[in-house]
Amino acid sequence: LAAIELRGVTRVYRDRPALGPIDLVIPAGEFLTVVGPSGCGKSTLLSLVAGFAPPTAGTVLADGAPVSGPGPSRGVVFQQPRLFPWLSVSGNIAFGLRRSPKAARKERVAELLAMTGLEGAARLKPYELSGGMRQRAAIARALAPRPKVLLMDEPFGALDAFTRERMQEEIRELWRDTGVTVLFITHDVTEATTLGTRVIALAGPPGRITLDARVGGDLREK
Ligand code: ADP
Ligand code: ADP
Repeated sequence: LAAIELRGVTRVYRDRPALGPIDLVIPAGEFLTVVGPSGCGKSTLLSLVAGFAPPTAGTVLADGAPVSGPGPSRGVVFQQPRLFPWLSVSGNIAFGLRRSPKAARKERVAELLAMTGLEGAARLKPYELSGGMRQRAAIARALAPRPKVLLMDEPFGALDAFTRERMQEEIRELWRDTGVTVLFITHDVTEATTLGTRVIALAGPPGRITLDARVGGDLREK
């Protein structure tokens, strides 16, 4: 069963086609990168999969069911981490676990702090963190409810080259260890081909798939 499927999906903003039609099947467990120049429709594609906006035409399916809004099965990470500034790192990570029993929440937060190397930063507020730490916290927050799909929109675009490279390695490890399906947007071709198991290129607007290629072998084997 596909984790995500788009069937004849288009998106129009006030008479202006921004995307599509797009047909795309993302099998569970894939690390799909989407590459293309600014304005070609990458963020629009991600917002439709996230459920932030409905398609103008066509259907977006997650786990076989139509997407009708954002949900805990699809975690999202943006270029700007958008952490809650009044909450600690722990509080941010715990945000999607508000309904879990306290003990389970505490255990899950500890697990995510360890997974993202933020054990020492649990009590810090976002303004006290480096850019890389903020992005780790945002990733941990997105993963907390155990989403099946992690949607990332240029997540490392604002980081310095050194931090970006480290984060790239970390996200690959995290993908390998958790089995989460990843949809990763970037305008950087090198990032797209080194990170993904599959790359699609978009050109537009309106964004159309101009290339769909398997790359890098199965990184899970490494
Ligand atoms: P990318 O992420 O590849 O830079 P976007 O998906 O943001 O591309 O944008 C695709 C096209 O849709 C662009 O032409 C952009 O100007 C337009 N667009 C994006 N969001 C909106 C919006 N909210 N209202 C009107 N036009 C938009
Ligand atoms: P302690 O319980 O040792 O004081 P924390 O302040 O890190 O440590 O929080 C403990 C646990 O409570 C965290 O692991 C997390 O599960 C949860 N938590 C922390 N802040 C919040 C918050 N603002 N909203 C919901 N849960 C939170």
